[in-house]
Amino acid sequence: MDAIAAAQALSEIGYLLRQNPKEVYRARAFSAAAWTLALERPNLDALSKDNKLTSIDGVGEGIAKVLVGLIETGQSTYLERLRSETGQPARDDESNIDLGKYQGDLHSHTDWSDGRATMLEMARAAKALGYKYLGVTDHSPRIKVVNGLDAERLLAQSREREQVEKEVGGLALLQGIEVDILEDGSLDLPDAVLELLDVVVASPHVKLRQEPSAMTERMMRAVSNSNVDLIGHPTGRRPGSREGATYDFELVFREAAKHGVALEIDCDPARMDLSPEHARLALESGCSFSLDADAHAPAEFAYVPMAAWMARRASIPMDRILNFRPLEALTMIAK
Ligand SMILES: [Zn+2]
Ligand SMILES: [Zn+2]
Repeated sequence: MDAIAAAQALSEIGYLLRQNPKEVYRARAFSAAAWTLALERPNLDALSKDNKLTSIDGVGEGIAKVLVGLIETGQSTYLERLRSETGQPARDDESNIDLGKYQGDLHSHTDWSDGRATMLEMARAAKALGYKYLGVTDHSPRIKVVNGLDAERLLAQSREREQVEKEVGGLALLQGIEVDILEDGSLDLPDAVLELLDVVVASPHVKLRQEPSAMTERMMRAVSNSNVDLIGHPTGRRPGSREGATYDFELVFREAAKHGVALEIDCDPARMDLSPEHARLALESGCSFSLDADAHAPAEFAYVPMAAWMARRASIPMDRILNFRPLEALTMIAK
């Protein structure tokens, strides 16, 4: 069994377990094991034959048992049971996602804000994964605790971006921002700054419990801003610990589609946002998508392969996912 396929099964188990507050620890264990598999890609067949699956970091007896089922039958009875218990079955119309064609991640952080690695370290890791581009999208100023970037620091960052791009070679660094969607739907940086950037991820971070009608207006305004390229983790939820924002999803998704604003499937196991169900609605509403790790460290790029099952479950064809497009076809760059 391919380590990535196994990672996706464990990731889905972690995701489904998170929906039961009593299972949060077990959920985290499955997500962590999925991450290890996606990162290290061990030879599962060989390890299983030698009875050494528990030598993989984070794989105890319970997870090893699930892996044995996957390796021997390609299926997990445990996963099947969780799917039916939570009413989230596999679907007949799932799409085919070829991760080998993934061109680059559009949402990442560096130590310019709350990332734990330098831009050079992030760029080298992206290059090593074969990425053609990486969106460097640190936070905007409102998020003070993470040292968000104002216009002046963005300018300074652009100089570093040029140097790093030269040093790494063969990887386009897209200068961007993860700009906060403020309570009234305006953005945390002026349009005159946003329009200079390659990629603008607009995300809701605070005041997620606004009344649905106010939240709808807030999101409608954000997707109507012509500088916005994609909406990051569109509900702000944290499965198992925080419910996301509620708004008129269909109305907002249709408006996003109209303005050519993509919606993100944030693959961070603590987020997994949009959910497959919301992503399916967004697909039917005509939206495009971005499948991003929202990485704060190089190892977190592995969130994308482990969570790619979400796009598959939502039946999103690859041509509706920006990350499968070559750099030249990313229209946002010229925008
Ligand atoms: Zn964010
Ligand atoms: Zn982010």
